[in-house]
Parts: sequence; structure tokens; C-alpha cells
Amino acid sequence: MQEHDNVYTKAYAIQLDQHDNLAHFRKEFYIKENSIYLDGNSLGLLSKRAEKSVLNLLESWKQLGIDGWTQGENPWFYLSEELGQKMAPLVGGKSEEVIVTGSTTVNLHQLVSTFYQPQGNKTKILADDLNFPSDIYALQSQLLLKGFDPEEHLIQVKSRDGHTLLEDDIIEAMTEEIALILLPGVLYRSGQILDMKRLTTEAHKRGIVIGFDLCHSIGSIPHQLSDWEADFAFWCNYKHLNGGPGGVGGLYVNQKHLGQKPGLAGWFSSRKDKQFDMEHTLTPAEDAGAFQIGTPHVLSVAPIIGSLEIFAEAGIKNIRRKSLQLTQYMMDLIQHELRVFEFTIQNPLEDEKRGGHLYIEHKEAARICKALKAEGIVPDFRNPNGIRLAPVALYNTFEEVWNSVQILKTIMVEERYMQFKNEREVVA
Ligand SMILES: *Cc1c(COP(=O)(O)O)cnc(C)c1O
Repeated sequence: MQEHDNVYTKAYAIQLDQHDNLAHFRKEFYIKENSIYLDGNSLGLLSKRAEKSVLNLLESWKQLGIDGWTQGENPWFYLSEELGQKMAPLVGGKSEEVIVTGSTTVNLHQLVSTFYQPQGNKTKILADDLNFPSDIYALQSQLLLKGFDPEEHLIQVKSRDGHTLLEDDIIEAMTEEIALILLPGVLYRSGQILDMKRLTTEAHKRGIVIGFDLCHSIGSIPHQLSDWEADFAFWCNYKHLNGGPGGVGGLYVNQKHLGQKPGLAGWFSSRKDKQFDMEHTLTPAEDAGAFQIGTPHVLSVAPIIGSLEIFAEAGIKNIRRKSLQLTQYMMDLIQHELRVFEFTIQNPLEDEKRGGHLYIEHKEAARICKALKAEGIVPDFRNPNGIRLAPVALYNTFEEVWNSVQILKTIMVEERYMQFKNEREVVA
């Protein structure tokens, strides 16, 4: 690419778009006119292919009735396994290690109830201070179910700066009393990427089982779960993977644990050829399918069929490359254009540690977000003073990033945010 005279001009943004080899994917998505969507890390947009796969699925129900379980384009009985196979490259897992099932929190319960096996002195669970509340609630209830007091048995590594975690601090907390570790791959607020490989190696040196919540990393950064030998992982598919609100999630179990009985069993945990024998003794599937519980939520999994095609075509490495470019560009513009307005960038600045979204803070964040929405920009407010901005590789443009920062600048210069209350909405 030719060096443009001034990297802060709109012309430069347009030039970046012209050289973007993922640009053609944008037209596959439904993007509201006169709006800039920067919230793909909370709820990804609908693609035309996902829409089509939902309609196809409805058609199979319409045409086939109960025979849809075994017939048609995507026989429902095998769909979770088939999608697991297609999703495996996104987490760096083997086909048999991944299954599309459940939801983030349900999968967390399933995996912790399977792999948390307190013994002797080794009874504690290690997590962190910055994780999403649902993960912490689930860990607390898992401890209670096993008869332990979460106050004493859930250890949460503290953040030193309130935004990020130090791997050294986490490793120091891996004491002899820890039975299981659960950490995010990418932190939901600051977007920090944890060094999952290093943490897994250190946990295993100490005989501790370790798993990761990939909600904010799947579809945004590449993973190598099998190479890293992580014990388990789980995620939702409605954020970067564009699987639709409340869409079915996914999980990974390392092959060394396959064949084991699931903590929470149901008839879909069964080996598929045995399932309809209807025996009262479960023969668990030999792949990650064993961690399913009941009948798959077929209608809520349908969008993922189409969405995964897009990821396969675009390639996660290309997505990551553009994502880094977009977030770097946005940071550069924020630093250049908004210098006087007291925004602080709280996400890690380095490429190796920065996930798919930016996290900036301002004391007027709640009403700045409302002012942005009034101007057609969709950000994501995080209590009490955080703004998450996710320029997404598959559907956002450099020009949109440029426009967003200009509009934000106007809001600040003209104090347009003053007409709103500085409080969060019910869903924020
Ligand atoms: C989005 C998210 C969840 C949501 O869990 P659901 O069960 O899908 O509601 C949980 N944990 C993290 C870290 C998340 O980012």
C-alpha cells in the first residue's frame, strides 16, 4: 500500500478499505442504514447465510416432520456433532473434541461438574476477579453442591490495575490446594488476551485441571487448545460468531478426557448408536458429544450452519489480522482526535494481548454512549464508566471507524451528551 500523506484523513480510511481483502463479506450482513454497529462483541449481526440456514431448517421441519431427525440436508440428530467438527478449527481442537450444544453457563456447569473432583487438601477452585458474573455464580453454586463454602474455596486472583491480570499473579495462586482453574481467554471488559498456553503448562506442572471461557475470543482470535493441552473450554456463539440471540453454545474437551462420564448426564450424552436402545445404563459417547444433556435446540443452532461457512471462507487468521488493524487504527484516531477530552484507553495496547474490542473509560461514559446511539452509532456501555467499541473484521470498515471517531469528537466538542442522564439502561 502507498503511504498516504496524512493517516488521519478520511481519504486514508477509504484507501485502507480498498486494500482490505475481507471487504466483500460486509455485503453478506444485514446492516442498518445510517448506522455504525460497533457491538459485535455482545451480539453479532445477522448474515444472509445464517438467515438462509434458519429458513432451510424450518423447511425441513415443514416437509419432513419427525423424519427431519435423520433426513434432509442437515439431519438434526447429527447436527451438533457436524457443527462441532466445523467449529473445531476455530478453537484449534480435533473434530471429536468439540460439540455445539447448550449455552455458556450450562456448559460451564457441565464441565465443572465433570472435572472438579476435590480430593484431600486439593479442594479449591481458582478464578479471577474480573470475570463475567455468570461464571462466578456458577462456580459458587458448584462448590456449594459439593459441600464447600465458596467464601473459602473460590480463590479469585486480583487485578492490580482493575482492568487486566498478570499471568505471574495467576501462576503464584496455583497452590497445592487448587483442584481446578477457570479463566477467560479474553477478558470481557478490557479485552485482554490471557496466555492460555503458558497458564495451561503451569497448571499441569502442579497437577491442576484448567479450562477457559472463550466467549470473547472465539471468532475473533485463533486458538490452539489441543496443542496447548487445555483440559476443557466453552463459549457462546452469539457474539463474534454471529449465531443469533440466545443461540446454542459450544464446548471442547481434550481427547485425554474423552470416554469419561459427564457430570450432568442425559440421554443425548449417549453413544449415538446406543441411544435408542433406551437402556437405563448410560453408555457415554466416545467424543465430546458425551457432554450434551438433552434434545438439541435445533432452531437455535440453525443460524450457526450459515455463519460457520463465512468463517471457513474468510479464515480466522485473516479475520484476526484485519481486527488488529481496525482496533489499532481506532486507537490511533482516538489518541489523535480526542486528546483533550480525558478518555483513557484501558485495553492492552500490544497486539499479542489485545482482543477484538477496545475498552475506553470516561466519567460521562453512560451518557456519551446514549449520545452515540442518538447519532446512529451502537457502542456497548459497561458500568460504571466504560465504553466497549468493537470494529468487527467481517462487517465493519475503516471508514466507519473514522466516522465514529469524528462523531464522538463532535459529541464532545458540542457537549451533546449533556442532554442525556448519566445512568445505565436496563440492558447495557
Ligand atoms: C457473554 C458471556 C456469558 C454469557 O453466558 P450465557 O450463558 O450465554 O448467558 C458468560 N460468560 C462470559 C465471559 C461472557 O462473555
